[in-house]
Amino acid sequence: MVLGIGERSADAMTLQPTRLYKLRPGRVKVPLPPKQAAPFYLSTEWRSLITMIKKQRGNKCHDPNHPPDVPRWKGRIYGDHVVELKDGGPPLDSRNVMLRCHACHARKTMQQRTQRYHG
Ligand SMILES: [Zn+2]
Repeated sequence: MVLGIGERSADAMTLQPTRLYKLRPGRVKVPLPPKQAAPFYLSTEWRSLITMIKKQRGNKCHDPNHPPDVPRWKGRIYGDHVVELKDGGPPLDSRNVMLRCHACHARKTMQQRTQRYHG
């Protein structure tokens, strides 16, 4: 039994270089730059949920603190999580999604970052 364990670890040592060798340089994935959106926000599920919500609520900003001098439908409208995923918010629950314009989305993200930093 003791011999068996010794043999196994020796096998693992010899197997590892073979696995590395099989990786073809052209197929190695380049790490994503840190600023890129999380893959979830590129998923079909998320996009179709936002399309549905925009149809239901209208393609405009729903942020209560939207600046009054700017039209709410101006520019691109983003689906934004009320409770962020990293805070445990449900990702595909329409009740956890608010449509926001770019300005409100940026303002909220900044506020949360500040809160997170000081909190
Ligand atoms: Zn807004």
